[in-house]
Amino acid sequence: MKFVTAKKDGVTFVGFVDDEKGRVLPLNQVEEVRSGEKSFPSSMIKCIASGENFINKVDQLLDWVQHQINVDSFYIPIEDLTILAPIPRPEKNIFCVGKNYAEHAIEMGSAEDIPKDVMVFTKAPTTVIAPNGTILSHHNVTSQLDYEGELAVIIGKQGRAIKKEEALDYVFGYTIINDVTARDLQSRHKQFFIGKSLDTTCPMGPWIVHKSMIDNPNHLDIQTKVNGEVRQNSNTKNFIFPVEEVISVLSAGMTLEPGDIIATGTPAGVGKGFTPPKFLQSDDQIEISIEGIGTLINKVGDNEACEL
Ligand code: MG
Repeated sequence: MKFVTAKKDGVTFVGFVDDEKGRVLPLNQVEEVRSGEKSFPSSMIKCIASGENFINKVDQLLDWVQHQINVDSFYIPIEDLTILAPIPRPEKNIFCVGKNYAEHAIEMGSAEDIPKDVMVFTKAPTTVIAPNGTILSHHNVTSQLDYEGELAVIIGKQGRAIKKEEALDYVFGYTIINDVTARDLQSRHKQFFIGKSLDTTCPMGPWIVHKSMIDNPNHLDIQTKVNGEVRQNSNTKNFIFPVEEVISVLSAGMTLEPGDIIATGTPAGVGKGFTPPKFLQSDDQIEISIEGIGTLINKVGDNEACEL
């Protein structure tokens, strides 16, 4: 199952994605036809927080739709919708794993930079933008804007001191994040926070894929293209710290909650890793694809030309 947050006629809603046919089932709109009540939670975070009940309810609704004579009439073509980030405004900072692929750690420094313990920083919730949303160039504050294609884990259940063996039980699903980074700010201010938290530097989506559709998050092809040129091409089997370990370390003394987002790190091939570096410029298009999830596409635009 794939779920989007979408907008049509000024109304934002959670929808079930029928990827093959390029259409979306607006859950509450259809549920109202079925039962007379809009009984699905109103936001993606609330849907996630209602856990298995949510998935069971979607199953029941899909079954009902299948048995209607006018099945197709319940779906909306995806091109008729504005697709937002699946979680348009996270309730807390996005957790990000740094240097989780050895080759990326080396391109950022040397083999000595390969971490022995999970390295975590965060991005502010205000960084999040939609698939196809514009990444501001921020040329007034940075000249080294860079891309980082990453698998993101969406937590589905509250937990602390989560054991590695049980970690995937706490996952709701997966999406794609571009951990856009201002490299000059990242190094100048010692802590990564400012360099990782400029507005529009967390494109997310295009949807959340439920965990039932991903056999092993630690074995997915991941690729990033800039203007059609392949820059990053790897597989999450190259993680230094697999998803289970990241969840276990993060939750050791800190509660993880439904809707929390963990970006799992980026493979080699970021702009800074090239000689000379290939930082992002206005009009560049970044396309991140992850096996079993989909493709996240965003363009860079000048601050003056774009409104938030
Ligand atoms: Mg990153």
